[in-house]
Formats: sequence, C-alpha cells, structure tokens
Amino acid sequence: MSIEAIRIHETGGPGVLRLDTLDLPDPGPGQIRIRHTAIGVNFIDTYHRSGLYPLPLPSGIGLEAAGIVEALGDGVTTLKEGDRVAYGSGPVGAYSQAHILPAGRVARIPDGVSDEQAAALMLKGMTVRYLFKDTYALKAGDTILFHAAAGGVGQIACQWAADMAVTLIGTAGSDEKCEIARQKGAAHVINYSRENVVERVREITGGRGVPVVYDGVGKDTFEMSLDCLAPRGLLATFGNASGPVTGVNLGILTQKGSLYVTRPSLMHYVASDEDLAANTADVFDAVARSAISIDINQRYALADAQRAHEDLEGRRTTGASVLVP
Ligand code: NDP
Repeated sequence: MSIEAIRIHETGGPGVLRLDTLDLPDPGPGQIRIRHTAIGVNFIDTYHRSGLYPLPLPSGIGLEAAGIVEALGDGVTTLKEGDRVAYGSGPVGAYSQAHILPAGRVARIPDGVSDEQAAALMLKGMTVRYLFKDTYALKAGDTILFHAAAGGVGQIACQWAADMAVTLIGTAGSDEKCEIARQKGAAHVINYSRENVVERVREITGGRGVPVVYDGVGKDTFEMSLDCLAPRGLLATFGNASGPVTGVNLGILTQKGSLYVTRPSLMHYVASDEDLAANTADVFDAVARSAISIDINQRYALADAQRAHEDLEGRRTTGASVLVP
C-alpha cells in the first residue's frame, strides 16, 4: 500500500523534513495498521530531527497519533477493524497517513474524546502522569515548580496539579503565556524572561524552596532550578527545549543542599504493555472526569510539518500542535 510520510534522510534544521511516498507492508503477527486521522507534534520530534536523539537513517518521525484500525496481523485479538485508537510512545513514524504498530502499544479512544484530542494529549498526558506519580509521588498540599507551563506538557501539568490539590508555580516566557498557565490552574506564575525565578519561588514558599522542580527547558534553567529546591529536593530535568544540560559538577548538588537530579524519559516508564495500559487508563480517566483537556492551538497539513517545527522551536506555540494527514 502506498502512503505519504514525512521522513528524514539526514539530521539538521526543519528543512530536512521531507514528504516521501512509501510502500507500507501488511501488518505482521501481533501488529496492526492504523489509518491516521490526527498526528501529535512534540518537542522530542525536533530532537530526532536535529540528531540530538539519534535514529538510524533514513527514518520516519513522530511518536503520537490517532486513527482507525484498518488491518490486523495474525494473532491480534484485542482489537478489530474500525476501532478508534491512539498511541503516544511510538514507534517513530507517526508523521504519515498510516503506520504499523504492535497491537499492545495502542489504546482504544473512549467515547467523548475526539481523535484530535487523543492525538494531542496521549504523549503529553502520559508524561505528566509518570512525572507526578512515579518520578516523584506528589501529594495534596505539595508546592512544585514547573517550567514552560503554557506549553503542551505544561498545560496538562497545570490542570493535573490543580486536580491533585498541588500548588503549581508555573514559569513561561511572556505575560500572555503566564496568563494561559494561570487559567489552566497554576496557582502562581512567573515570567522567566523578566522576573527573578529563584527570588519569587523563595518568596512563595516562605524561604524554604520546593521539594521538586520539573524542568523541560534544560540548559537555560538548570542552575536556577537547583536554586529553587529545598534541601534534599529533586530536580526532574526531563527535556532540552533550550539545549541539553552537559558537564555538570556533581559537587554543586552537595553545596546546594544534598539535592537529587534525575533525567527521566517516558519510554522507560511505559516500556511494558502493562505499564503503558495503566498510564493510558489514568490519562483517559482524567479526561473523562474533565480534570484535564488540551487546547489544540496550532493545526498544520502533514506536508507542512516543517512549519510546525519552526513554530515550536521558535516559542510561537501554546498548548498542543497537530498535523492533519
Ligand atoms: P512545549 O509546547 O512545552 O514547547 C516548549 C516550550 O519550552 C516553548 O514553548 C517555550 O515556552 C519553552 N522554551 C524555553 N526556552 C526555549 C528555547 N530556547 N527554545 C524553545 N523553547 C523554549 O513542548 P512539549 O510540550 O512538546 O514538551 C515540553 C518539554 O517536555 C520538552 O523539553 C520535551 O522534550 C519534554 N518532554 C519530555 C518527555 C520525557 O519523558 N522526558 C516526554 C515529553 C516531553 P516559553 O516561551 O514559555 O518559555
């Protein structure tokens, strides 16, 4: 079967994203073929494209999409043709009209959730879920710092924290973005392009600092994040929007209060089909309870993936971006 797909033949800027025509084989044993109806765009896709997270080339790109089951391989009994499904943990190749995946890596989309919503929030929702429940088990009454709070992952974090009675201090790069984070449930917002984050966090927490900082910005916020922690606090540095954190002298963790740092990835928290199913169920439960939703503020044609990456890396987006195949 012939399909159109965005692929990379070399790593680099958004210009290396190419629309190719491919032959998609029939699904093998245990696999399904999904006809995509909506595709999620995530910052991790830009790391695959740039080569920060290397892939064997040429490669498809994109880890998240929703669509209709169109064909089943031998032995698949959990799904049937016509089912509405979504996935948010790959394998890479979501920027395409159709994709082949192991049946155990997809979830049925519940009634009441649109394909677009599922494609926009599975990866981001699962990320917030593992960060809040597994990386550091938040409890009601905790106060946390979450960077880039008006972004895709950030908006879900603001809502999920509010639902857990957690006080979230959110940062963002403009007053408009701060206002979005506040509307999504951030109890306090800090414009980190003009305010002193460490001072504000100390003020809000009565001088103590927070027990955990969630930092998807990376290089530019690393030091500041450590300075916002209470003694023995945890920095979960989970992304590189401003570039990767490198060359850290571990001695600073002692100096700043016997701190912990972890560099987690969703892929390790949903590696088994069972963990994936449990995480997905929690995300869809949060959607069903209206605890979380996602604003899809940018839509692009599949062939326009380059512009989607330019806007995301140019900090011109809020909420989620989707590609329409
Ligand atoms: P976002 O929608 O949050 O976009 C990234 C945001 O980061 C921007 O909008 C911008 O917000 C902020 N930012 C700060 N500095 C820069 C910079 N120099 N260049 C670009 N952006 C910058 O993206 P996602 O929701 O897709 O992902 C958020 C983060 O979470 C990413 O780092 C991503 O890699 C990470 N992630 C990690 C996962 C994991 O398991 N480890 C899983 C999923 C996501 P502002 O203008 O307000 O500063």
